[in-house]
Amino acid sequence: AQLDTLDLVVLVALLVGSVAYFTKGSYWAIPKDPYASSAAINGAAKSGKTRDIVEKMEETNKNCVIFYGSQTGTAEDYASRLAKEGSQRFGLKTMVADIEDYDYENLDKFPDDKVAFFVLATYGEGEPTDNAVEFYQFFTGEEVAFESGVSSEDKPLSAMKYVAFGLGNNTYEHYNAMVRQVDTALTKLGAQRIGTAGEGDDGAGTMEEDFLAWKEPMWAALSESMDLQEREAVYEPVFSVVEDDEKSPEDESVYLGEPTASHREGRAKGPFSAHNPYIAPILESSELFTVKDRNCLHMEISIAGSNLSYQTGDHIAIWPTNAGAEVDRFLEVFGIEKKRHSVINVKGIDVTAKVPIPTPTTYDAAVRYYMEVCAPVSRQFVSTLAAFAPDEESKTEIVRLGNDKDYFHEKITNHRFTIAQALQSITSKPFTAVPFSLLIEGLNKLQPRYYSISSSSLVQKDKISITAVVESVRLPGASHMVKGVTTNYLLALKQKQNGDPSPDPHGLTYSITGPRNKYDGIHVPVHVRHSNFKLPSDPSKPIIMVGPGTGVAPFRGFIQERAALAAKGEKVGTTVLFFGCRKSDEDFIYKDEFKTFQDQMGDSLKIITAFSREGSEKVYVQHRLKENAELVSDLLKQKANFYVCGDAANMAREVNLVLGHIIAQQRGLPAEKGEEMVKHMRSSGSYQEDVW
Ligand code: FAD
Repeated sequence: AQLDTLDLVVLVALLVGSVAYFTKGSYWAIPKDPYASSAAINGAAKSGKTRDIVEKMEETNKNCVIFYGSQTGTAEDYASRLAKEGSQRFGLKTMVADIEDYDYENLDKFPDDKVAFFVLATYGEGEPTDNAVEFYQFFTGEEVAFESGVSSEDKPLSAMKYVAFGLGNNTYEHYNAMVRQVDTALTKLGAQRIGTAGEGDDGAGTMEEDFLAWKEPMWAALSESMDLQEREAVYEPVFSVVEDDEKSPEDESVYLGEPTASHREGRAKGPFSAHNPYIAPILESSELFTVKDRNCLHMEISIAGSNLSYQTGDHIAIWPTNAGAEVDRFLEVFGIEKKRHSVINVKGIDVTAKVPIPTPTTYDAAVRYYMEVCAPVSRQFVSTLAAFAPDEESKTEIVRLGNDKDYFHEKITNHRFTIAQALQSITSKPFTAVPFSLLIEGLNKLQPRYYSISSSSLVQKDKISITAVVESVRLPGASHMVKGVTTNYLLALKQKQNGDPSPDPHGLTYSITGPRNKYDGIHVPVHVRHSNFKLPSDPSKPIIMVGPGTGVAPFRGFIQERAALAAKGEKVGTTVLFFGCRKSDEDFIYKDEFKTFQDQMGDSLKIITAFSREGSEKVYVQHRLKENAELVSDLLKQKANFYVCGDAANMAREVNLVLGHIIAQQRGLPAEKGEEMVKHMRSSGSYQEDVW
């Protein structure tokens, strides 16, 4: 009987939750930006305006389209790699397509002599990536409405052959949900899948190897189905990269790191979005703590006058710049440091090839602002460099690295080398023969990084706070530190702003003033991404927050907001924060602020801490949760929302488990019932995660 109310709450909330879930796309989708593709991407993409993929493939004589749903660029990269391999090894006429650039209503007209690939990442809680929201809704809605009016019962996709690969993370509840659901939907509509629906697991760190292992049998199955003949793959560049001696980098038409044409022309204007960042002033920056090899930044970023807005719980994206030392290393390894400021024109050789970097540009700007040159290295990419090795010995070594997964792991992955460091570990000779097109093809676009906004929009609507730990990791036995791209750039901005004379101990320097000095006066390119991680609309509802380390970021915003409401005399429900760090006097961030909030909120704010390195045993937030089982359970009965933020791999999982135990134990239920209740809380939106 004790359960009845909660069960009912859960049921009702489930219903509300599903409605919220299915309408989310419209709320989430980043508005289409009028400048985006026309500005940052050259004419190739512009020339094909049609949203009809069947027509587009006909027009451009393609028989294989590779759609991608990508958030951080990996799915897009895999799509390009599949396109290249399909064309070079199997003679397919391939094109890569951003899944949001086409309509789906006429896919029942997809011809039987062609094939469609779907390379789909799953994001967050089993959600589609921003660019795949509409696609997902189209195929997983109640009734799939094709233009022709054919009903889904009649297997409208029976002519369509497709291939599917998903990118997911097994530490999340809905592992690879996108590819699984889309695969089921397509099969139900009669489409024939070729090979298995592949699943890459970022959680286990095996994404790349999962992809490599999946694609060979898939190619074999596709060859049989489409009667393809495999041939010796010969590298054919996707882009033509031509140096333009007539132009100088000072010419107005040259992109020196600007994200779009309007930025280059100095008239950057909104709407600012994921395709068109706002160059935001950093108003203040400081370190919340600094201990040996670990520090944490707090920044206040102004969005005043930008027309950008945020809500408490949203994310801000920071567009980074690569460190000077890494840019130099890359240019040296590929023998282009002397011509780094030469102007290059980059064009797609095929009309469907989208140039991922703005052009014309210079080698220096491409490497510094547009290419992810510091990321982990893919085995497939390294093996494509064999043909361009400076001598036979290095070539043999690269071929071995390409063919032997364990050897590659030992020599490259274990050392966390960047591509340039990996090649330096093979030979000191430069790889001058590598076509620049191959580097553009093989490396991702430099990605913005997301940060959970740590301020309340109610308290400071024009100012976004971020809380970021600087990534600086020394691996046991490794010769170098792995330095995070964005956080070390932010650290440099902070040092510059505060006139801090001490240079980075690892010699990293940055082009702080940005392209054509446009970021001078301490600016950083940003955009805002709306999230579903939200406070209850009724502030009198209790909330429980679990946020160790930088996981506390959004909760600082939540508490700031509730303290302000309390100060205005509003009734604010019990607000509990479980916070954890190493030591109370070392990395307890916002300690003093929390005291002030406590003064404003009195007993309704409870901060429960876990310090892992103070006692003889390590204590984490999940232990404190357990100790406070009664409080937690009582608050849940009062319809508290439960929030978790921070480490996805361990903490969030543990907390989920512990909460299940608490519910079961406190209500005298079997353990499975406790787990089930947490699942219900998740789907109803009363258990929310913001984890990374
Ligand atoms: P990166 O350069 O991206 O490196 C990150 C890690 O990748 C390194 O530590 C290393 O483990 C690995 N790596 C890098 N290069 C290599 C290599 N060559 N070989 C092998 N491994 C390598 N962070 C916060 O501090 N605060 C927040 O509030 C916050 N909120 C977030 C919210 C969301 C929704 C998401 C998705 C992430 C959030 N993050 C937050 C994490 C943040 O986005 C960044 O991932 C983090 O700051 C590191 O970025 P970076 O560019 O400095 O490091």
